[in-house]
Amino acid sequence: MTPSIKVASAALTLAVLLGAAACSQPAEAPAGIEAAADAIPASADVHPFAIGDLQLAALRDGTLTLPLDHTPWGDAAVVAAILTEAGEDGDAVHLSVQPLLVRQGDRVVLIDTGAGGQMGTQNGLPGALAAAGVDAAEVTDILISHAHGDHIGGLLNAGGALAFPNAVIRMSAPEWRALQTGAEAQGLAALVTAITPQVRPFEHGAAITPFLTAVPLDGHTAGHSGFAIISGDERLLYIGDALHSAVISVRRPELVNAWDIDSDTAVSTRQGLVERGAGEGQRYYGVHFPYPGLGRIEQRDGGFVWTPET
Ligand SMILES: [Zn+2]
Repeated sequence: MTPSIKVASAALTLAVLLGAAACSQPAEAPAGIEAAADAIPASADVHPFAIGDLQLAALRDGTLTLPLDHTPWGDAAVVAAILTEAGEDGDAVHLSVQPLLVRQGDRVVLIDTGAGGQMGTQNGLPGALAAAGVDAAEVTDILISHAHGDHIGGLLNAGGALAFPNAVIRMSAPEWRALQTGAEAQGLAALVTAITPQVRPFEHGAAITPFLTAVPLDGHTAGHSGFAIISGDERLLYIGDALHSAVISVRRPELVNAWDIDSDTAVSTRQGLVERGAGEGQRYYGVHFPYPGLGRIEQRDGGFVWTPET
């Protein structure tokens, strides 16, 4: 397959699946008294919000700080210029890490698990989850966008045991295959052994629960997946690492990111997300965008900008 056909195919897949997720929304029970009573308490590291009758919360895990000469976008001067033009400090790139909690009744879903204190982060997830009123044993489903350390780092506790002992762990079939294949080389053999009994891989684009559908966002890893969260006429797209920086990835989606396994496809996916997000006013959840990661992409002055919800 030529690069151009591959890119067109990736863009088409994204468009079809975003549309399909919107059209295939399941009938939901009306919001009930129970849901209101279960509202998640807000705190410094917990940002609760609702999508239809679903209770959600951004859970702050920490921040990845990248010196300008160690970002995936190459030339430090180019990165600094993009940051400065956006009115940001041009001294480093700061990527927040905030897994997303989604509740409906007894179904407690956690999307990604943070870095587990790796990469200079703060391992805030366990405390944030407790502050949200959720015991780790209550989590029923863990959805993994992709198997990088800042997303699977919280799967095991400090003792090497499952941090969420009763949760089924869901990731795309190609992502799970790649994790198993590379486990030894990446020092993840013990993690793979520990989580294997809990893993239920899904087909790319599958419905995971009545309110959650996997959305292939190809290019970052072997089976990178976003998630469309839908209730009533409201929807939110968890974009995973298709976009890392609310400044650099949004303003310059065509920039090559060295963390992407397939750069052409990742650029196509990124451009599709930016353009469709701006065109449709789609609400996004950026796991690495400034906390709490909620907002929309807008087209302004001939370019694209991230507009966070305040
Ligand atoms: Zn990440």
